[in-house]
Amino acid sequence: MDISVVVPLFNEEESLPELTQWIKKVMEKYNFSYEIILIDDGSLDESWSVVEKLQTKNQNIKGIKFRRNYGKSAALYCGFDAAQGNVVITMDADLQDSPDEIPELYRMVTEEGFDLVSGWKKKRHDPVLSKNLPSKLYNWTVRRMTGIKLHDMNCGLKAYKRKVIKSIEVYGEMHRYIPVLAKWAGYKNIGEKVVVHSERKYGATKFGLERFVRGPLDLLSVIFISRFVKRPMHFFGILGVLIVILGIASAIVLAVQKTQQLKAGIYGNLLTDSTYFYIALTAIIIGAQFFLAGFLGELISRSASDRNKYQIDKKTF
Ligand code: UDP
Ligand code: MG
Repeated sequence: MDISVVVPLFNEEESLPELTQWIKKVMEKYNFSYEIILIDDGSLDESWSVVEKLQTKNQNIKGIKFRRNYGKSAALYCGFDAAQGNVVITMDADLQDSPDEIPELYRMVTEEGFDLVSGWKKKRHDPVLSKNLPSKLYNWTVRRMTGIKLHDMNCGLKAYKRKVIKSIEVYGEMHRYIPVLAKWAGYKNIGEKVVVHSERKYGATKFGLERFVRGPLDLLSVIFISRFVKRPMHFFGILGVLIVILGIASAIVLAVQKTQQLKAGIYGNLLTDSTYFYIALTAIIIGAQFFLAGFLGELISRSASDRNKYQIDKKTF
C-alpha cells in the first residue's frame, strides 16, 4: 500500500464526508493505493456514526473509536499502530489542511528521501493573537532548544516513512514535538513544505489556553526524555556519583588534616571543628539520594509503555 492517511478527530461530524471524499479524489487521480484511518477520539457528537456510514461506502476507510477522549497524541499513536502504507500522512479532520498537498508530500518522502516532511502554514488562517503570534514565538523557542529548523513544528499535516512512525511513541502533548521524537529516534532527514491552510469551516478549535501551560512543560519533558529518560540512571547516577566523590574527597581531606593536627599534639573535637566533616556527610547523603532517584526513574521507564493505554471501543476493520 502506498499511503496511509491518519486523521485524529474529536467532534468533527460536519467535515468528515467532505474530507474523505476529497482525499479519495486525490488518491484516485494519482492512482495511489491508500487507506484513511479515522480515529474518533471520544467524540460527543455524531462523528462515529458518520465514520461508520462513510466506511460502508468506501472500503479504504478504517475507523477506530476510543472509549473516551484521550487526546490528539493518543489518537495519532493508535493510527500509527494501524497504518500499513509505505508513507504515512497525518492530517487534521477540520478541512484546514488540504488533501491536495498529499502527492507532493508523498513525492518528497519517496523520491527526495526525506524521513519526515512537515507542513508549514506560512499564510495561516487562524486568529492572530491567540494562535499565530504564540505559534511564532513557540516555534522560535523550539528551534533554538532542539536545533530542528522547522517553522511550524506543530502543523497537523505531515508525511513520514512508515518506519519513522513505527519507532516513536507519541503520548501526552507530544504530538506537538513529533519531529523532535523522530530526530531522537535517529531520523535526521527532516524536510519542510509550505502548505495551504484554510479557515476552520465547521465546529471550533479543540485547543484552548491550557496549551500555553502544557506545551512548554511537555517541551521540557521531551528534551529531558529524549536525552535521559531511556537511561535515567545515567543522568541521576552520574550526578550522584560525582557528589559522592566530592563527599569522599572531603572526608579524605578531613582525615589528613586531623592526623596532622594529632601529630602536632592538637586535640580538637573531631566531629564539630571541621567544615569538611559536614560537606562530606551531606554530599554522601545527597549523592546517594540522586543515585536512588535514578534507580527509581529506571524502574518507572521500564513500565512507561503504560502511558499509552488508551481503550479502543469499536473498530471497523
Ligand atoms: N483532536 C483530537 N483530539 C483532541 C483534540 C483535537 O483528535 O482531544 C483533533 C481535532 O479533531 C482535529 C485536530 O486534532 O482534527 C486538530 O485540532 P484543532 O483543529 O482543534 O486544532 P487547531 O487547528 O485549532 O490548532
Ligand atoms: Mg484546526
